[in-house]
Amino acid sequence: MDIIDMTLCELSAALKTKKVSSLEATKACLKRIEQTKELNNFITVCEDEAIEAAKRADEAIASNGEYSPLLGVPVAVKDNIVTKNVRTTCASKILENFVPPYDATVVKKLKSAGAVLIGKTNMDEFAMGSTNEFSAFGAAHNAVDFTRVAGGSSGGSASAVAAKQAFGALGSDTGGSIRQPAAYNGAVGFKPTYSAVSRYGLVAFASSLDQIGPITRSVDDALELSKVIFGKDIHDSTSADVLLPDKLSGEVKGRVIGVADEFLNGLGEKETAAFNGAVKALEKMGAVVKRVSISSFNAALAVYYVLSSAEASSNLARFDGVKYGRRAESYTDISDLYERTRTEFLGDEVKRRIMIGNYVLSSGYYDAYYIKASKARTVIKREYDEALSKCDALLCPTAPSAAPKIGEETDPAKAYLSDIYTVPVNIAGLPAVSVPFGSDGKMPLGVQVIAKACSDGVVLDIAKALERARG
Ligand code: GLN
Repeated sequence: MDIIDMTLCELSAALKTKKVSSLEATKACLKRIEQTKELNNFITVCEDEAIEAAKRADEAIASNGEYSPLLGVPVAVKDNIVTKNVRTTCASKILENFVPPYDATVVKKLKSAGAVLIGKTNMDEFAMGSTNEFSAFGAAHNAVDFTRVAGGSSGGSASAVAAKQAFGALGSDTGGSIRQPAAYNGAVGFKPTYSAVSRYGLVAFASSLDQIGPITRSVDDALELSKVIFGKDIHDSTSADVLLPDKLSGEVKGRVIGVADEFLNGLGEKETAAFNGAVKALEKMGAVVKRVSISSFNAALAVYYVLSSAEASSNLARFDGVKYGRRAESYTDISDLYERTRTEFLGDEVKRRIMIGNYVLSSGYYDAYYIKASKARTVIKREYDEALSKCDALLCPTAPSAAPKIGEETDPAKAYLSDIYTVPVNIAGLPAVSVPFGSDGKMPLGVQVIAKACSDGVVLDIAKALERARG
């Protein structure tokens, strides 16, 4: 088997038995990145650092020291996760030349496990977007069809994994940014329970929703990456220890799977057929399907865009040309400096979110929007928790459709609709995984498994069953 065609777990086994070296695997990825560079999945490729890290991993393997499943495995990291001495741009002009002095906790953990950082992946600016077209570095392209979007905001990570430029990648998910691009590219995308992974060193978008997680070619690969990045961290007071199983059984016999009628309203014919295929596959493997209702489902999108924008307007205040980021060349006084810097170096979508955020937080509108959305958040969370008290997991499509063509979606409000199935999960803080299942005839579709908080092993197990059924 060609190295590049291996899953992360297969590569890991081949490295351990010395059939393959980390240097070979790393060079194979670098070559693939070069051959397919028009995909535009990387903002920075860490060629020299990766070669060095691969050599160190090979030495560690040769010395038969302590074995870690990620030792020598090339992985990519989204460019909103800080990396020491490697520029971290958030795909924004304002951070174009920002070189962080420290590693994010997840990066530190990857490095201690011996993983090789191959590069920093493209994304929508500050993780705001669903297509990757809001990157200041140009859009990443879909790995399955070059004319289509990679999805967003972790589009570079998802396309890189699907295009075999890396064996796994990290993304961040505030409202679907891991799961939706994974679905668009035919990859597995896992958003862990809120708090399961430290966000220290993740450039904050909406702190009550943000979560880091893996994008991989298989569900077992997602488990292996998760094992390394999970865990409480003294640098992130919101982090906690969430348990993961050592191995996945892929067994669903007797598991109760909930499907809400609201999930299927307005879904296209092919998408419905693909989704029903996943439901049937689980039933065939012994799962029990139960109808549930989530009446707040349609409210989640509005709640998400109010809350996430409010938090973003506060989190992004630090990028002002003084505390962080590039500064406009000429200005008359301090307010002119802020104004010119932010006007020049922030993109339209980021500005739109900051304006929405400031509006919903401003006096006179605070109660009508922010407080109301916060109350609605409680209702949504309660409804998901209640539905999940009657079943082991909920199943729904990951997105209403497959990846659209680049340039097709010009209305921002319509683009927000692609997040309808993913945002409630962040609002409720739950774990969810998107696994490829079926297609619309041309492009892959994803199905999403959602479970109770801290049942991360359950979503992965059910996803593994779907992966098996798919063949
Ligand atoms: N597409 C959503 C947004 O634009 C989600 C982004 C994310 O999860 N980072 O806000």
